[in-house]
Amino acid sequence: MNITLIGTGAIYSKYNSACTLINDDMIVDVPNGILKQLLRNNHIPEKINKILITHMHGDHTADIPFLLMYLYKNKKVERNTYIIGPKGIENKVKQLCKIYHYHFLDKIDSYIKYIEIKPNEILENPDILYKIEAIPVLHGKEKPAYGYIIDNQLGLSGDSAFCEGVQTIVKNSEITIADCSRIYGDESHMGIDNLSFLAKDYHKNLIATHMKDETREELENLKIASILVKEDGYKFEL
Ligand SMILES: [Zn+2]
Repeated sequence: MNITLIGTGAIYSKYNSACTLINDDMIVDVPNGILKQLLRNNHIPEKINKILITHMHGDHTADIPFLLMYLYKNKKVERNTYIIGPKGIENKVKQLCKIYHYHFLDKIDSYIKYIEIKPNEILENPDILYKIEAIPVLHGKEKPAYGYIIDNQLGLSGDSAFCEGVQTIVKNSEITIADCSRIYGDESHMGIDNLSFLAKDYHKNLIATHMKDETREELENLKIASILVKEDGYKFEL
């Protein structure tokens, strides 16, 4: 599995918002500005046919219409494109396109396959190629919010406070891309304190994401071996 961190920042950050690309064909979350970022970094958005969404906040969904429009204009939606996410994902995508005054969606409707994944569901669809496990996590008042385990290897916490869900994800993955928005975690996001605990308790490496700039700076000063702090564009393989 080839993994690229397209974005590692929080909303108010110099970095792109948290977004991960897996093997060029699956994108996890589609924050504002991410289509342009993919193009700037010479990725080929045309290859994306699986869009996996952790939760409905705008910094995880805002560019879905632009990405779909790009795929439509480049005639890449003439094959199935899967949009997988929590309950309500279909309605969310349709609403966003409506709000943006984009009217192309009905033309490609038969190629867009929405999959509303249930809490703790394990999706093993041969067309999707990946085993996707949806783990409910705690993200303030936002419900449902998921983290995912992909192919029993890669963990993604999504946006989450420290909770049972993130412990399950870290425990059952080789490496987890984990929300580290804050220096100290709160009811919506984890902090350096939470990631330090997870790394130590489960003897795993974590990659910090969704970082505020001050959190990134603090992590860079602390140099904790098991918490990796990477720039946008960083690639690794599992
Ligand atoms: Zn969020």
